[in-house]
Amino acid sequence: MKKDILIVEDEEKLRNTISDYLTLNGYTTLQAADGMEALHLLESSRERIGLVILDLMLPYLNGFELLRKIRAEGEVPVLVLTAKSSEDDQLRAFSMGADDYLLKPFLLSVLKAHMEALLRRVYNKGKRREYGRLVLEEEAHKVYLDEKCLELTPREYEVLNFLTMNEGLVLSRDRILDEVWGIDYHGTDRAVDTIIKQLRLKMKQAGSYISTIYGTGYRFEVTENEDHQG
Ligand code: CA
Repeated sequence: MKKDILIVEDEEKLRNTISDYLTLNGYTTLQAADGMEALHLLESSRERIGLVILDLMLPYLNGFELLRKIRAEGEVPVLVLTAKSSEDDQLRAFSMGADDYLLKPFLLSVLKAHMEALLRRVYNKGKRREYGRLVLEEEAHKVYLDEKCLELTPREYEVLNFLTMNEGLVLSRDRILDEVWGIDYHGTDRAVDTIIKQLRLKMKQAGSYISTIYGTGYRFEVTENEDHQG
């Protein structure tokens, strides 16, 4: 599946920089400088667009309005870019169907990592995925370590699934809470730590695939030496 990435960003320089970087990395892009232009492209080229990178502050039709229209029409994944760091805007974007967000300024490599994680999440849904010694079968909600099925609780499975879907990315406890427990959950970050602790125990040697990022959260990554043993 080869589809275009639609970049909706009114700052021309940033839009071109993102487009150049993605093109260099083998993607094809479409560009829109404002909300109306984006809407027209979405209408005329819907089948071609695999993901939308959406700035929230846009002329004519802002990102929230555009997001509402995109979601009214379908399921194309949307990665929101925003300089608005307030939690309200992030929650609002998520509640309106954004799939991920990135705060400006950001590194292009980080944008690409987020984008690729999102593409995997959306387009590899339900597939069997391998990570070193672990195999995750999303349809069956099962995880295997060296072909032996792990006894995970639904919550443990959801956390591990979310971490692996975002392989290589640092996920904050809040982000994990929002995704797995839901944004209405009012418990503490401790819930995440408890699940991770259990997961590491059950995953045995592969528990080292989950790193604690001090002061931030967690990252799932297959470590080198584990890879060779696999
Ligand atoms: Ca803008």
